[in-house]
Amino acid sequence: MPEKLLYELSVEGRRGVPMPSSDVPAADTLPGSLARTEDAPLPEVSENEAVRHFVRLSTMNHHVDKGFYPLGSCTMKYNPKVNESIVAMKEFADVHPFAPTRMVQGAIRVMVELNEALKEISGFAACSLQPPAGASGELTGLMMMKKYHADRGDSGRYRVIIPDSAHGTNPATIAFAGCEVVEIPSKEDGTLDPEAIRDAVDERLVGLMVTNPNTLGIFESNIRQVADIVHEAGGLMYMDGANLNALLGITTPDALGFDVMHINLHKTFSTPHGGGGPGSGPVCCTEALEPFLPTPIAAKRGDSYLLDWDRPKSIGKMHGFYGNFGMHVRALTYIWSNGKNGLEDVSKLAILNANYVRAMLQDDYELPRADRCLHEVVFSADRQAANGVKALDIAKRLLDFGMHAPTVYFPLIVHEAMMIEPTETESKETLDEFIAAMKQIAKEAIETPERLHEAPTTTPVRRLDEAAAARNPNVRFTKA
Ligand SMILES: *Cc1c(COP(=O)(O)O)cnc(C)c1O
Repeated sequence: MPEKLLYELSVEGRRGVPMPSSDVPAADTLPGSLARTEDAPLPEVSENEAVRHFVRLSTMNHHVDKGFYPLGSCTMKYNPKVNESIVAMKEFADVHPFAPTRMVQGAIRVMVELNEALKEISGFAACSLQPPAGASGELTGLMMMKKYHADRGDSGRYRVIIPDSAHGTNPATIAFAGCEVVEIPSKEDGTLDPEAIRDAVDERLVGLMVTNPNTLGIFESNIRQVADIVHEAGGLMYMDGANLNALLGITTPDALGFDVMHINLHKTFSTPHGGGGPGSGPVCCTEALEPFLPTPIAAKRGDSYLLDWDRPKSIGKMHGFYGNFGMHVRALTYIWSNGKNGLEDVSKLAILNANYVRAMLQDDYELPRADRCLHEVVFSADRQAANGVKALDIAKRLLDFGMHAPTVYFPLIVHEAMMIEPTETESKETLDEFIAAMKQIAKEAIETPERLHEAPTTTPVRRLDEAAAARNPNVRFTKA
């Protein structure tokens, strides 16, 4: 079954491309110890064998250009190809980070326009495009919150509240920022518990960090009340806006009572994700926090665009140069090609799609929290567990249908969680195929549960020791 690897196809002396013979004298500049003593053991293959090898490799892993990818919280929406054609323009692709600003006015304008768009989307007064990921955005926001308190002479604040439904990066960031994590249990319905938060706030509070809609896909309807409690205690409200796919054009984090947030361009704003990265996690905030944003900030003064480094209260730089500029170009392309009404449709369709999946599967799988959801829905495999089938088995079996699995075992507060985020970019036909697969798996869990333990059977590799693969990856080909 497995086709031959490039090294195995190698035939001595075979060439893909004839190279012209060198017409310059060989230089002898490498010190002896660094120079090769024998040829590198590279595969010798024809051009078409090399092309087939890489095309085959590119399809061995699942990806969003290949099939449905309902990985909850991650917003694996389709990455429109227009983004790629714009960012490949030489005016963007060839810009050098050290170019004088007068030579790259257009590039800086892209950053200014993206800032403006994110301000409108978030409702906030200012943004910085520096952070290169969501987790980095969280750290940026927390450092700004700490500096805000310190700047007011309000020392002695070191505690940050999160709910027990929080994304794993939240407690990690809090610890990394030198603060203490205060975890508050959610209410039975999965939302924040204002009374428990009231009991936890005091003069040691830096702020509260939460995702809304939360990781159960439920809107935190008490958020204004919670914001009042936090603000009365002198704390700040941080919104983990990694996933903003339910809010575009519907409401803003500013209107919900938040002070600062990050936005993952590689989720809501369709820039590539995972191996296609890098990410980008801009931070937006209120006027009160603006002085602390990381530098530089792209700005317009009069008719010219510049990078503002003169920000004495800034927390400083969070990343090399100006953030991941290629992602800024892609995200702005996405925002402008959708327009204001289009972005609102994005969120409405994302919510509709998740609710369609929820409604179609709720007879087959346990729905542990709400009977409604926003852009994602969390099921539990508890019912299947009675037959010895776990969420992991269901996830693995889905791979045999040519689909990516949902996020499993997160959020932690749902037993055997399966978190499905279909996104707005999937058609009803694709959702129906997914629903049919999930229904068949639910049936197999009753009739042939052993089959699910064996899955996947059609993928290039079967079940892996995922922890070992992640911790000790062996990506090196060794010739047998
Ligand atoms: C993805 C995600 C993050 C982390 O974003 P990265 O870019 O992976 O660092 C944080 N919070 C939530 C809710 C997320 O979905």
